[in-house]
Amino acid sequence: MLVVAPKETLPGERRVALVPDAARALKKAGLELAVEAGAGFEAGVEDAAYERDQVGVATDRAALLGKADVVLKVQPPSEAEIAELRRGATLIAHLRPLDRPEIAAELAAAGVTSFAMELVPRITRAQAMDALSSQASLAGYRAVLLAGLAMGKVMPMMTTAAGTIAASRVLVIGAGVAGLQAIATARRLGAVIEAYDTRPAVKEQIESLGARFIELPLDTRDAEGAGGYAKAQSEEFLAKQRELLGARVRLADAVVTTAAVPGARAPLLIDADTVAGMKPGSVIVDLAAATGGNCALTRADERVVAHGVTILGPTNLPADVAVDASRVYARNLATLLLHLVKDGALVLDLDDEITKGCLVTRDGQVVHPAIRAKLGLS
Ligand code: NAD
Repeated sequence: MLVVAPKETLPGERRVALVPDAARALKKAGLELAVEAGAGFEAGVEDAAYERDQVGVATDRAALLGKADVVLKVQPPSEAEIAELRRGATLIAHLRPLDRPEIAAELAAAGVTSFAMELVPRITRAQAMDALSSQASLAGYRAVLLAGLAMGKVMPMMTTAAGTIAASRVLVIGAGVAGLQAIATARRLGAVIEAYDTRPAVKEQIESLGARFIELPLDTRDAEGAGGYAKAQSEEFLAKQRELLGARVRLADAVVTTAAVPGARAPLLIDADTVAGMKPGSVIVDLAAATGGNCALTRADERVVAHGVTILGPTNLPADVAVDASRVYARNLATLLLHLVKDGALVLDLDDEITKGCLVTRDGQVVHPAIRAKLGLS
């Protein structure tokens, strides 16, 4: 069975879906491996490094994809990339299954079996396959570095001959995987950190990282839904949250927002008036920019300056740390692939929670119930 990782084509995407470390694990299972020439270069892997681990390197992309049994990718395929896949091939990648279900429909029409990394169940048994976590964690780290560079203050307290510089105040809104890593990173940089999340369960995690959990008089007893994710809140709840949280936002030198609800628009948590009340020189890094943003002024992948406040909405921070991001992502992919392979061939056990959970298309059909519902299929 030939497993192939092509070069990513999305502008700015520097990651690669296969690195030598993961390749070695896949080789042991008897798989044949190949990459497109140059696929790993921006992720720190030269073609020669693949070849040393018996991974083929091909310059003819079309020929390579034309014979691939399994294709490993980072980004969802574009229409042109779907056309490159062989009918009957299997694709494992991010597929944005819930916000861009038309990709699943196109893959089904092309006769491609596909698995979405976003849908790997967040269960203990699947932790090593959890790309949402591995990539979100790096994004949280990177967001704090971006904030540190964009703000007019330093993060740590500094004692100098000319007086003492106070530590910066960092506010993290949404303390899932990215938010917790943002807290840990800001802490290492010496900031004073506050954090808020609607899921009450995270209070302890926030405090164990040395941040203060903000208590708001909101009823969040029912905020956690299936799989440990947040439930979407009513507009009335969010309006109250914006008002209450606004006071903390105005005090912050840097705000990192990561609040998200799977399959829904990101909750709007910072309105334009609150931004106008912030100190000039302060910064908001909005990690929810790809799904609409947590701040009303966020523009995806743009730098907005309003009232002296810088608002950044990066949508692909893991690509900025492509070396480490590729390493852990490739490990996530390889672990999932090994879960699907028996005696060198794909064997899909549709009763298995992991396989069933992330299988999107098969036999020309979209098979995942949540995506079928999004597409209006019965
Ligand atoms: P996410 O990216 O969907 O959301 C980020 C955070 O935003 C979440 O913590 C969510 O509660 C929060 N949020 C949503 N609406 C909000 C609002 N109005 N105000 C403030 N915060 C809001 O979530 P994620 O980081 O991918 O993971 C969330 C959950 O999944 C966590 O419970 C995490 O522990 C769990 N998880 C479990 C496993 C596992 O068991 N293997 C692995 C990873 C994550």
